[in-house]
Amino acid sequence: QDLARKLSGGKKPLFENTRVIVVGSGKGGVGKSTVSVNLAVALARLGFKVGLLDADVLGFSVPRLLGIVGERPYALDEHTILPLEKYGIKVISMGNFTDEDTPLIWRGPLLGGVLDQFFNDVYWGDLDYLVLDLPPGTGDVPLTVMQKLPEAKFILVTTPQASASHVAGRIGYMAKKVNLEVIGIVENMSYFECPNCHQRYNIFGEGETEKLAEDLGTEILVKIPIEIKVRELSDIGTPAALSDGEEGLPYMKLAEKVV
Ligand code: ADP
Repeated sequence: QDLARKLSGGKKPLFENTRVIVVGSGKGGVGKSTVSVNLAVALARLGFKVGLLDADVLGFSVPRLLGIVGERPYALDEHTILPLEKYGIKVISMGNFTDEDTPLIWRGPLLGGVLDQFFNDVYWGDLDYLVLDLPPGTGDVPLTVMQKLPEAKFILVTTPQASASHVAGRIGYMAKKVNLEVIGIVENMSYFECPNCHQRYNIFGEGETEKLAEDLGTEILVKIPIEIKVRELSDIGTPAALSDGEEGLPYMKLAEKVV
């Protein structure tokens, strides 16, 4: 306990000198967690001290994306959890406190308790940026998390499909309503470029994200293509942003825009 107090300088570890980037989406499967993880890694590659908080407590996917499934954070005491570290970022995810295949069947209060612990009891040390991966949609948890972080900046992830950008708009408005600054939209799975003929195919359509950006009074930060390599690298726990190849570039560009 003494060590814990010494480490945290006697005060609660909060996000006072840390820029918090909240990453949200209107629905699941659009690549929100992939973007969160790669943004965190890309920011670290730019030389910043970065933390990644997986607030998608029930639907966590961060441990797999970072190749840390089965690793357990170390608790110094009941109120001091040390985050895991991988690829130069510090990480906390419910997935590292439970086993991957057991569904967590939790109601609101229990969920809120875990999030409170993630906010109050994780000892991050000095961080320049904290990337926070929200659960998808406009439910109670995303709303509560956003309300706790009035200084945070918000990034919206969507695909170009009308049905996706429509639900993305709802969480964008929610973020604005609780006074988060919506710094922009990531259009993920934007297009597919044939590796042989270099023809581009707009698999999910085009033009919807531009309309959404206009409606929300924000910009499109980056358009990320569908890439087999992005999916493959994610599946083996080595984020594309670590790569110097083409597949890493959109995430480096995103990080540069965020800074
Ligand atoms: P969400 O967090 O929105 O539910 P994920 O980040 O888990 O979505 O991504 C959903 C799936 O799509 C994952 O299998 C992921 O590897 C894949 N994926 C995400 N972005 C891309 C991309 N740009 N290219 C190819 N596959 C992608």
